[in-house]
Amino acid sequence: MKMPSTMKNQSARGAEKYFREIAAEAEEEPPGKTALLALEEEPPSTGAQRRRFFGHIPDNLWNDWKWHFRHRITTVDELARYIPLTAEEQAKLRLVAVKYPLAITPYYLSLIDPADPNDPIRKQAIPVFDEIALTGFGTEDPLEERRDSVVPGLVHRYPDRVLMVLTDICPMLCRHCTRKREWRNGGWVRTTAQIEAMLDYIRRHKAVRDVVISGGDPLTLSTQHLESVISRLRRIEHVEIIRIGSRFPVVLPQRIDDELCNMLSKYGPIWLNTHFNHYREITPEAAAACDRLVRSGVPVNNQSVLLRGINDSVETQTRLCQGLLKIKVRPYYLFQCDEVEGTEHLRTPVEVGLEIMEGMRGYTSGLAVPTFVIDLPQGGGKVPVQPNYILGQTGDRLLVRNYHGHIYHCHNPRVKAKAKLVPAPLQVKVPVAVKKVGIRDADRLSLRS
Ligand code: SF4
Repeated sequence: MKMPSTMKNQSARGAEKYFREIAAEAEEEPPGKTALLALEEEPPSTGAQRRRFFGHIPDNLWNDWKWHFRHRITTVDELARYIPLTAEEQAKLRLVAVKYPLAITPYYLSLIDPADPNDPIRKQAIPVFDEIALTGFGTEDPLEERRDSVVPGLVHRYPDRVLMVLTDICPMLCRHCTRKREWRNGGWVRTTAQIEAMLDYIRRHKAVRDVVISGGDPLTLSTQHLESVISRLRRIEHVEIIRIGSRFPVVLPQRIDDELCNMLSKYGPIWLNTHFNHYREITPEAAAACDRLVRSGVPVNNQSVLLRGINDSVETQTRLCQGLLKIKVRPYYLFQCDEVEGTEHLRTPVEVGLEIMEGMRGYTSGLAVPTFVIDLPQGGGKVPVQPNYILGQTGDRLLVRNYHGHIYHCHNPRVKAKAKLVPAPLQVKVPVAVKKVGIRDADRLSLRS
């Protein structure tokens, strides 16, 4: 463990004075963090609501993701059968739905407390009038994904990775979605020719070592369809890892079935990034889905979005991240909500995210602390934003505060500047056994198609 050094052999009186002043300032104003409460276990509420809303649905249908998908709640009339809504509220929501439709899986609906208008699950799924009432904020495509599309559906922004958008269909339409602009397009899936054009681009660009498959939600595609894409990606030598972005483990965990997991296990390394935003989403069903993925050799990371009134507190984020670790999901990113038209009511000041980071770091294990990032508008990319722990620096000494706000002096070795070396690209080979299986299966598939 790194220990702070004592103040010895001080050579510069000026530096000492400088440090004393900064230390005094910092001690006067300790970081405003919240001491964490003992986190109580709170059982998820699926059982009760499922019995209330869907008690007549037998287990074989409840466990069938296609049944959930077919029975998504997509109109205000249907919604009003489950959630108390006044006539005025219904009229307003119908207006919202013209611009921003709704779709909620029966499973996710069963997590909502219908009596609580501020329920954090409800706020992610059920539209509110503010989506169209708060005008003048945000844009349709703040990340300028269209601009960075090199062929339709393929975004190449960073040097070594690309994003394949295979469909705009999602099991649920999350009210804070960055791609709300796609919701009115009626649901599309990339054609065979479009997918081939994406693969062709990746084959020709040898710097691409990491392919993110996203949407919409790519797991809305059949397992066979997904396999046809993944197997062909796996045959490209320079593609080292494949990542799937999916919210299915959260909003319809039944999708993570044996057929899917068996398929994914053939083409590793595959990672899955999912999107839990609140600890109440960590249900037994979601835990089982993540467990199936992990046991199939697919590591699962979580990318949550900081949302006003949903997860914008130290306590909620801590419970979420600690709960994720318990189901073997690593908290990866906490995103500042993008500047998307129709989401202003859910956005928080950046300072809230910084306070949450400050209140988690040191109080819980580092594994449970995600990186807080802003995905910059105009396609500027992701930038980590962290509280500042270095208070000052002179010569070879740093003044650093810890999570308690205590101040420490550290020796910071000075080295002569060296010529900057550009590291050679890392050559990582896919294990031969895995590669052979992938190619053989891929060949079989392409012969069939
Ligand atoms: S699952 Fe993801 S892409 Fe789909 S609506 Fe939710 S946030 Fe948007």
